[in-house]
Formats: sequence, structure tokens, C-alpha cells
Amino acid sequence: MPEIRVRRSSSKHPKTMIRSVSDLNLEGKRVLCRVDFNVPQNSDGTIADDTRIAAAIPTIRNIIEKGGIPILMSHLGRPKGSPNPKYELASVALRLTELLQDVTVYFANDCIGEEAEKTVKNAKQGEAVLLQNLRFYAEEEANDTEFAKRLAALGDVYVNDAFGAAHRAHASTAGITEFFPERGAGLLMLKEIKYLGSVIGSPEHPLLAILGGAKVSGKIDVLSNLLDKCDVILIGGGMMFTFLKAMGGETGDSMVEDDRVAMARKILSEAKSKNVRLILPADTIASTEFSNDTERKTVDAEFIPDGWRGLDIGPKTAAIFRLEILAAKTIVWNGPMGVFEMSNFAAGTRSVAEAMAEATLNGSITIVGGGDSAAAMAQFGLSDTVSHVSTGGGASLEFLEGKTLPGVAALEY
Ligand code: AMP
Repeated sequence: MPEIRVRRSSSKHPKTMIRSVSDLNLEGKRVLCRVDFNVPQNSDGTIADDTRIAAAIPTIRNIIEKGGIPILMSHLGRPKGSPNPKYELASVALRLTELLQDVTVYFANDCIGEEAEKTVKNAKQGEAVLLQNLRFYAEEEANDTEFAKRLAALGDVYVNDAFGAAHRAHASTAGITEFFPERGAGLLMLKEIKYLGSVIGSPEHPLLAILGGAKVSGKIDVLSNLLDKCDVILIGGGMMFTFLKAMGGETGDSMVEDDRVAMARKILSEAKSKNVRLILPADTIASTEFSNDTERKTVDAEFIPDGWRGLDIGPKTAAIFRLEILAAKTIVWNGPMGVFEMSNFAAGTRSVAEAMAEATLNGSITIVGGGDSAAAMAQFGLSDTVSHVSTGGGASLEFLEGKTLPGVAALEY
């Protein structure tokens, strides 16, 4: 894979460069690789979804094929700086062994110190090591230099493939890079930068963004940034009601953020002045309670009766959104259209997911920006039907907000 050039706004640094793991000389080297094995767990601690482990396999294989020994490090959950059996990575090491099959994976029950050093030293070419949860040390999240140095002592070369953790300046994602003149991005990290970067860089137009999810407050920065780039923005999910209220609509008992109505009005007027078609739902599936088993009916989105709340986009909206999606060349989607976790309110989200799949078949670039929309794609069995599903919820949102991710910036030369 070629080097990725990242454009910076400063004229002093007009262009910087990130090297790919594929371009690094790894023969006989211990490759300290930050991965994102922060997998969802069941209540008994077993792995609920191994997507993130599977997503790191191409990079791990690439390192092994080039004669390097992958020394993998990750966080899991929020153990708040001390060891906690609930967040141990041992079960991840087992799953990794299953996925890698022919590669022996050694697990070190610490990420620094004697045990880590011994395990790393004993590993041979063709084998791999997984270190214990980085967040068992508070120094990880504090981006502590001494801790970063102790981690760095375990490898000759540094690779970061943890896009999902790249929006945090932690010891293993940021501080550590100063100890490695030889560093690069893993294949997953490069894929994320390529696809999400294609939205905010120079996308093929028309560029369409679909935004949903519970609240407008979490999406204001992404909306502001996308207003400068998109031709069309579709809004669904709980956040649509704040916009509908801003337009004078009757929202009944729907979720409305009253303190964001003025902001929604501002966004609507900015969209107009920037010639962005911002499309709100025409209808909604409303219910009398926040429950799957309650009375529901399709109502006009601007006239939701008192006592009723919108929990999904309606069929008319789904049809309009589908046509908009099929007319676009680049589509990015963040946030479900309704409460897709409840089967009676999942149709709108499913219909957007299916339209994304259709658009992909027509040759459009389709990107799902992690988090709940990625969970929805997985729930519908449609994850493989789009160009890219981001593995990072918060990181993909910050990327689309136009922010520099510390974990990406630290890889630059
Ligand atoms: P977010 O994390 O902001 O992307 O929000 C995702 C959550 O929004 C999901 O759990 C959905 O159930 C929820 N959601 C989507 N539409 C609605 C709605 N109309 N009313 C309440 N919650 C919603």
C-alpha cells in the first residue's frame, strides 16, 4: 500500500506523511503493535462480538509474513487504572489463536515489567504475543512518558492499527511514538483513514450524509463540518424532532432537546445559505410509550399528537431517503434512524442499510461511521454489503468533525 499523504492546514507543514506497515522493514524485528481489542463482552465476561479482533488480522499476518514478531497491546473496557479480572485480555488471546490458527499466541499477564519482557524475549518468528490490558495502569490514559518508555522497550518498531482508540492521546497511541524513529500505520488504520478521509477530503459528488441517533447535541460539530462538504444531508433518529420543533412542528411527546432548538434553527439557515439540501422526515412511526409492545401508528412528522412519540422514520420518509441515497456517489451514515434495538421500530434503519447496499452495487462509495449504525448493519447481516464499516465510533465521529486524531498525528513524519 502506498504512503498516505495527510494535508495539514499550516503552511509551515503543507504535507506530512504516514508510512504503511507494508513499507517497513520488519525482518527479525519485534513489532510493537497497538490494536483495538476493546470488544463488547457478555455479562459472564465472554466475547460478545469479535469484529475488532478479526479486523486486526490482516496487519498481524502482514507483520508475520515479513519476518516480524507482533507484540500486541490493547485496552479493554474501563478498569480505571488498576487490574480487574473482568477486563483481562486472556479470552481475547484465545480467540486470536482461533482466528490465526497456525500462529502460536503467547499471553503476558502484564503489559510492562518482567513478565512482559520475558514473554516477548521468548517469542520466535512465526509467533505472536498479546500483552495484558494497558488500562490496568492509570499512566496509559495519562499519556505518561515513563510508562510509554517502558512499553517502547518491548519493541524495535511501532505500528498503530487501533483506529478506534486514535482519538485519545494515550501513552500507547501518542507518547510512545517519540521512542520510535521507525513507525507506521496498520492496514486497518489506513483503510479507515482512506474511506473516512475520502468524505472530508475530495469526495466524488454528490456527497450525501445521513445523520441519526438519539441526540442532536452529540452531532453538532459533525453537522457543522459536513455542511461545508455535503450536497445533501438526511436527518433521522431522535435528533430529527429538535429540527422539526425548530421549524415550528408539533412534536408530541417525542425526544426534543429544548436547549438545542436555536442551534437547530441556525443549522437549517446555514444549510440554506450554503445550498445544502437538508432533508427532514415527512412521517414517523409513533407510539404511546417507549416500548416495543405498545400501540403504534404512522403520523405526519410535523403533526405528532400529544401523548405520542416518534420512534422511527415512516415509510414515506424511507422511500424518499432511498432515492436520495441512490442518487449520491459518496454516502456516509452515522446514527440509526429509529430505536432499531426494538423490532417494531427497526424498519427505517433497515431500509437505509438496504439502500446503502443497493448504492454500493451501483458503484457508489458507502461508509458507515461506526457505533450504533455499525451495530445495526451487523444486526441486519449487512455489514459486508457496504464499502466500509468503521470500527471506531467516537474516532470516526471526530474524524468527520474535521478534528486531528492524536493517534494519527503521532504517526506522521
Ligand atoms: P447515538 O449514540 O446518539 O448515535 O444514539 C443511538 C441511539 O439512538 C440508539 O440506541 C437508538 O435507539 C436511539 N434512537 C434513535 N431514534 C430514536 C428516537 N426516535 N427516539 C429515541 N431514541 C432514538
